[in-house]
Amino acid sequence: MADDFDVIVVGAGMAGSSAAIRLAQGGANVLLLERGSEAGAKNLSGGVLWGHDLDRILPGWANEMPVERHLVRKRFGFLSPESAVSFDMDDGAWRRPPYVAHTVLRARTDAWLAKKAEEAGATVVTSVPVDRLNWEGSKVHGVVQGGETMTAPVTIIADGANSRVTLGTPIRPSPRLSGEATELGIKEVYKLDASRLEDRFSVGPGEGHAEEWVAGMFPPGVMGGGFLYTNADTLSVGLILNVQSLFGRKVASHDLIEQFRSHPAIASRLRDAELVEYGAKLISSGWASRPASFYGEGWMVVGDAAGFVFSNGIVIQGMNYAVRSGLEAAETALAARAAKEASAARLADYERRLERVGILGDFRDFESMDRVKWNPRFYTAYPKFATALFHGMMTETGAPKEHLRRMLRRAQKAAGLSVLTLAKDGLDVVRDL
Ligand SMILES: Cc1cc2nc3c(=O)[nH]c(=O)nc-3n(C[C@H](O)[C@H](O)[C@H](O)COP(=O)(O)OP(=O)(O)OC[C@H]3O[C@@H](n4cnc5c(N)ncnc54)[C@H](O)[C@@H]3O)c2cc1C
Repeated sequence: MADDFDVIVVGAGMAGSSAAIRLAQGGANVLLLERGSEAGAKNLSGGVLWGHDLDRILPGWANEMPVERHLVRKRFGFLSPESAVSFDMDDGAWRRPPYVAHTVLRARTDAWLAKKAEEAGATVVTSVPVDRLNWEGSKVHGVVQGGETMTAPVTIIADGANSRVTLGTPIRPSPRLSGEATELGIKEVYKLDASRLEDRFSVGPGEGHAEEWVAGMFPPGVMGGGFLYTNADTLSVGLILNVQSLFGRKVASHDLIEQFRSHPAIASRLRDAELVEYGAKLISSGWASRPASFYGEGWMVVGDAAGFVFSNGIVIQGMNYAVRSGLEAAETALAARAAKEASAARLADYERRLERVGILGDFRDFESMDRVKWNPRFYTAYPKFATALFHGMMTETGAPKEHLRRMLRRAQKAAGLSVLTLAKDGLDVVRDL
């Protein structure tokens, strides 16, 4: 019996919709299934979108996609309980069109992308939570939802970080996500009118500012970072937390975000802003969260479901990898369709493509990044060290000036860091980041 579709894509996030657009543009009969009532309804990002890859399917996309602001400045810093040290990257190149990065709200961008898939000829169906893949022996032959089976020679799995359809299958043999392979993202959106927002963040109309902070004010042992991004007339504020560091500690995520929001360096910018949205979502933790394979008989896995999120504490980038991996899977599926063959050997081309476009190289090269990112000292000792050092350097006390060497030693003592630890952590940063 003939298949219902050439390709079925599970999940209309950045990865799934990009794949569906390319497949439809290539003439494939593609079905894109989304569990949310609309594409984007369940999606969450900080989010700064580096959208180069979208040029391949939607030239000039940024003029049409509902993006918020183009990024002109990025701030990175350390927060100790009552102080902050940060540096700004104010990039001239980011200010010039075509703008390279945009702040986005996923409910808008993902709905737009799914519409583009529909316009290209894909069948897009929302409110369809796929129950499982349709396994025929070791082969995937479409999906099952509500007792109904829909078939296609190729299924692209784009259902995000907590990929339910792969858990407990040969793609991800364990029935549960490990704490090590998962982070927790929490995000709030605050309404603030555009002119006040632009004054507060010293940006012009349409310009955006993004911040990422090492959160050194949480209870001991809790590791996480905070972010603050400007949208058109809202602010995205949130945390990325190490899930394992929460286990066994009596902390509630709403208390942690409250602590971040109340920090003097953050609170002043949120004054009079009104909370309009709240969400939480799991995030794949890079290489550690990769599946057993990226492809097999009749299937490929893309985006967060494949673990393609790069996050080193200074940046978090997953949407770019989602689009790029979605497009490479689509190209592989189009070639399989032309050859009328969807064997694992044929779909192995997807992995070669991931290699060629640098995705696998990126994640292999930064495999040990988590050792630095989740070094507990970065969330306790280093925020203290940085704020104590700069306090010493920048405060006039009337006493004789101190040499930098002595200030360094004083800050080191205040933070409880030995020279050996500093040297070792410094070496890890250079080697692993
Ligand atoms: C708090 C936070 C901040 C972030 N900040 C950034 C950032 O600034 N920049 C950046 O690039 N990345 C950021 N990321 C990461 C980024 O959001 C992800 O990498 C990206 O969304 C991955 O896209 P995706 O399409 O693979 O998955 P998703 O966006 O998760 O999309 C998966 C889709 O599949 C659907 N789905 C799931 N299960 C099923 C099912 N069974 N049936 C049908 N549909 C299903 C979901 O509803 C969803 O629409 C952030 C993530 C979080 C949580």
